[in-house]
Amino acid sequence: MGGRPIVPHQPPVGMASPPLRWRPPQTPPDASVVSPSLLATWSSCRLRATFQRAPATAGLRKMGLRAAVGTVAHAMLEQRFRSQEAFASAWAAESERTYQKLRRVWAPAVPPRPCNWPGWALTKHQVAKRVVRDLRCELSGYSRTRERTQASLTTESADRLPTLPWRERWLEDGDRKLAGRPDLVDRIDGVLTVVDYKTGARDLTNERRDQLLFYAALVQATLGELPVRGEMWRTDGATQGFHIASAAVDDVVRRALLVRDEMNLTSGAQLESKANPGPDTCPYCPFRVACRPFIRAYRSDWVCGQVAVGRVAGVGRLGSQQYVDLEVLAPRWRPKRLRVIGVPQDAPSLGDTWALSDFEGVSETAFFRWNTLTWTWPA
Ligand code: SF4
Repeated sequence: MGGRPIVPHQPPVGMASPPLRWRPPQTPPDASVVSPSLLATWSSCRLRATFQRAPATAGLRKMGLRAAVGTVAHAMLEQRFRSQEAFASAWAAESERTYQKLRRVWAPAVPPRPCNWPGWALTKHQVAKRVVRDLRCELSGYSRTRERTQASLTTESADRLPTLPWRERWLEDGDRKLAGRPDLVDRIDGVLTVVDYKTGARDLTNERRDQLLFYAALVQATLGELPVRGEMWRTDGATQGFHIASAAVDDVVRRALLVRDEMNLTSGAQLESKANPGPDTCPYCPFRVACRPFIRAYRSDWVCGQVAVGRVAGVGRLGSQQYVDLEVLAPRWRPKRLRVIGVPQDAPSLGDTWALSDFEGVSETAFFRWNTLTWTWPA
């Protein structure tokens, strides 16, 4: 039998806007320089780029475990080792250094030890193979990175620049206010090449290609010579590259300058409409916990760490563990009550609107993880 349903169909979320006031990020007055990562972030979500630059929210962006593995791998790839033992000992020391940095960043939470980081053991194996292969090349008298032309040495000495290769050297184009730190710039087989290391099996996407073109513009501004090739070196030994055309470099620079102007003209009030929430853009964004566009769009089937916002209804202790009771305001599909156990920091005050992300538990009980982020929203 047809006819109108007694209760009209309503989606599980979006029935009404959550009664949430929020504080859009207050940005610094001007973007001093645009980097490749800022360009990529702005292109993906303008609000995320603004959260990242705003002093009040910048601290939510902390090193994660995959970035920690990448940091260790990068440090190893910049060095040469005479034996497997020397490599293993340097890898252990760099892992420990990075772990201590993680601990400082996440204190009082305690992150996992390096051997439990995702991909740590595999990356170690891959980097060791790559480093040993490079060493064999050097010992056999063939080094791709050693074959420099006389022209490069002349240019370098004339401009009082350090000789190539440049490893993780900060490059700045002061006139156009562009800056970045390419992993490696060198003459490889006599060809000026800019290289980006990537951990894990990653393809040379348009975004990564733009990053290399951006670096090429910085090299040209610094050295007076445009690199001929851009290459992405993966830790598993694979290399992907392309010929750098000056028109492509000009296009990336033009977009970067547009982004800088747009950033400086965008006010906090406009930011909500500039957000781009979605299952592809938000899952790895650390600002989910402070982002109203995200919390309004967030669906239960998005593959991302959980986020909840609620009013603090109680605070107490269960043995040695501190807990916080929330009346959940958003997302609307969560149970209306949530007890969060294991809160390591100062508890929020009763009545606060408090948010947390990346916790364990989908029911009315949740547990803090070492990387759970919190944020107090305006009352
Ligand atoms: S959570 Fe999503 S919408 Fe909000 S800033 Fe991050 S990427 Fe943008």
